Amino acid sequence: MTLPSPPPDGGLTYETEVKRAFQRLLRAMPGISRNDKQNIRRAFDMANQAHMGVRRKSGEPYILHPLAVAYIVVKEMGLVDPVSVICALLHDVVEDTDILLDEIRRKFDNHIASIVDGLTKITTPIDVDRVDSEQAENFRKLFLTISSDIRVVLIKLADRLHNMRTLGAMKPEKMLKIASETLYIYAPLAHRFGLYEIKIELEDLAFKYSQPRQYDEIQQKLKEAQMDGKRYIQAFIHTIRQALATTGLKFHILSRYKSIYSIYSKMIRKNLPFEEVYDIYAIRIILESREGREGADCWQVYGVISGIYRPIPKRLRDWITVPKENHYESLHTTVQGPRGKQVEVQIRTSRMDEIAEKGVAAHWKYKENGEEEDFLTEWIGQLRETLKDPDLNALETLREFRE
Ligand code: MN
Repeated sequence: MTLPSPPPDGGLTYETEVKRAFQRLLRAMPGISRNDKQNIRRAFDMANQAHMGVRRKSGEPYILHPLAVAYIVVKEMGLVDPVSVICALLHDVVEDTDILLDEIRRKFDNHIASIVDGLTKITTPIDVDRVDSEQAENFRKLFLTISSDIRVVLIKLADRLHNMRTLGAMKPEKMLKIASETLYIYAPLAHRFGLYEIKIELEDLAFKYSQPRQYDEIQQKLKEAQMDGKRYIQAFIHTIRQALATTGLKFHILSRYKSIYSIYSKMIRKNLPFEEVYDIYAIRIILESREGREGADCWQVYGVISGIYRPIPKRLRDWITVPKENHYESLHTTVQGPRGKQVEVQIRTSRMDEIAEKGVAAHWKYKENGEEEDFLTEWIGQLRETLKDPDLNALETLREFRE
């Protein structure tokens, strides 16, 4: 398909835009060595050359896509390692251009070539209209055999996220297929890897494209409900802030809203109207804790809050003493707020928060220099173990992914 090539907004030429996107990527990894930077530039040059003249459905130069994927890998997954970035930049060259795997092997190394190979081979084998156990098993096997390096899966997730963000330019049937794959496979995978923000965005985008009418309806109701609840939650936060100020702890408080898709799926699952699903307010308290004090500080905050508002015991979740399998750590409590309204309070440190939002990749940041490669290897091993778990049959694995 030939498409016109209008310059993007602001009169920038595409060439300038590509350059800027590459600079932005480099700026996102300030700590890297000269050598790594050179290798990343070589990968960019190779991809830029290979995709030259090709445009995406939206009309922009193709190279902006791998650049965006690399940026997601660094910035949103926190995977600031040169190998991931190089592979993200090269992820479509073997599939979509004349470049052969051998050339990548020669110009980079075996490891990078094998990851790019995995990225080329990993296509979704599932007919998402009927996810039966055989298909689910195939899917899991595929991920296991191809992803000898879990970076394959992570880059694939970043690829899917960028495709979803730019899905508007697709034909409706293709859009539907991509949206349901995203909902059934990629969002649950993101969840399993602890990439919550990405999971929520994937779900909301998939929902938006597959059921636009329902999406709009919930989005509208959510906006109204948030406006109504704003004053209430501000007053609640104010009270807690004053009480915590006396403890000398450093903290900040956010109000939390349910995602559009999570509201929708609860409405369907429990057959409830919007009003009954959107019943709980939620806030998050993030502590700047000293090392070794994290658990104690969180429980101190819990104590202060329980002294003001009555907690509902069966709603207490302690993922600090025993973190979730995907390393999620947090203390959740639901209290009886003013006027009988329940408010969920999440208590965690900034380290826990970063891990909750960015997944286990964020752990990396907290390791001493030199432990990094070991840590990544260990993390990859853990993820592979989870995928391999013989106690779970494939369909259960998928369901668990989807919880
Ligand atoms: Mn791609």
